[in-house]
Amino acid sequence: MAQGSREIEALIELMARLPGLGPRSARRAVLHLVKKRALLLGPLAEAMRIVHETARECVSCGNIGTAELCDICRSEARGNGEICVVQDVADLWAMERTGIFRGRYHVLGGTLSALDAIGPDDLRIPRLAERVAAERVHEVILALGATVDGQTTAHYIAERLAGGPAVTVLAQGVPVGGELDFLDDGTIGAAMRARRSL
Ligand SMILES: [Zn+2]
Repeated sequence: MAQGSREIEALIELMARLPGLGPRSARRAVLHLVKKRALLLGPLAEAMRIVHETARECVSCGNIGTAELCDICRSEARGNGEICVVQDVADLWAMERTGIFRGRYHVLGGTLSALDAIGPDDLRIPRLAERVAAERVHEVILALGATVDGQTTAHYIAERLAGGPAVTVLAQGVPVGGELDFLDDGTIGAAMRARRSL
């Protein structure tokens, strides 16, 4: 195959590591970018540089943003006493896309796992307990995966918060844990509306 140059090949190799892009689509994308240097490649490079320099985790919920507190944690209106607990930032963004949930989030960063020796302190669980008290939370909605580890984590959190806010889970049959993103908004909305006590 005809090669462009070492630099362009290096860019294709990096792009091919992105989720959803293989070597073929990476090559096509890079070719497109190079053809649209002024319109697309320049602005993209600049946007990437800025995000590279500014992206960080929200100190409160673990969402990815560009400030110490993310927009959702900063918003007074979102402090409605509900916290939706998710495994991954992708789940948060998927839920947010639906617009159905008007409270705040808490990103655990994974699930408890005996096999991988992941305990509560390896996740953002202690911080969740702090927030429940500090933000006058009356409902914690657990949107965790239907896996054994996801369920173990849900029950651990429910026990840890016992005597505090109501703890609910999304309707069953929702494959969450970085997978919420693959569901359509209607399904996520229905699961949220049909949540039940744990
Ligand atoms: Zn936040």
